[in-house]
Amino acid sequence: MRVILLGAPGAGKGTQGALLAERHGVERIATGDLLRQAVRRGTPLGQAARQYMDAGELVPDDVILEMVRETVSEEATDGFVLDGFPRTVDQADGLAGMLDELGLSLDGVLVLRVPDDVLIKRLSGRRSCPECNAVYNVYLEPPSVDGVCDECGGELSQRSDDDPETVRHRIQVYNRQTRPLIEYYEESDVPVRYIDGEQPVDRVQAAIEAELIRA
Ligand code: AMP
Repeated sequence: MRVILLGAPGAGKGTQGALLAERHGVERIATGDLLRQAVRRGTPLGQAARQYMDAGELVPDDVILEMVRETVSEEATDGFVLDGFPRTVDQADGLAGMLDELGLSLDGVLVLRVPDDVLIKRLSGRRSCPECNAVYNVYLEPPSVDGVCDECGGELSQRSDDDPETVRHRIQVYNRQTRPLIEYYEESDVPVRYIDGEQPVDRVQAAIEAELIRA
């Protein structure tokens, strides 16, 4: 299975991508996670990416393409779920080139749709545990004790790009630079399927599986 999860920040790509990859025994390739890891480690890639991420802007295409090339090629034959990549038409062209070289194609693009006001609430309320990666939301799914992880007792933190102003900017960036990919794939041979991402997690999962059968 080789699929792309497309959707605005906060649409649930991370949550659904992890569940989907686990169910189908494939890798989830999440460029945002790879970048945050590079920032934490202070690598040259992390240093180059940080300013863009903090501002809610996209990291330049050539940096992203270089970062994913090896991983995508390694995982392509067994399958993958792409989460947060591609985000621009140039990245989509780059991905098509990589898959062409390997003689492989995409099985589908899954678009998670969520209204903007819900995205803003999800992102600005998001807190996560740096120890075990558990994710909470101060408005929607608060931990039992404020600021403390229910799973491991770790101290919850907020992503530096989840402050309300940056969140609004990231949604604009999505609308301007990433949303056009829906049309890009609609005009290609790859099936595009739409999922209501506002439903509870298990309902979204079921909807994704139903769409995959159709794809
Ligand atoms: P995410 O975790 O997917 O929300 O990504 C967090 C941030 O990482 C984004 O706001 C961008 O700054 C950067 N980023 C992640 N994936 C990409 C990508 N495919 N292209 C450009 N920037 C990206």
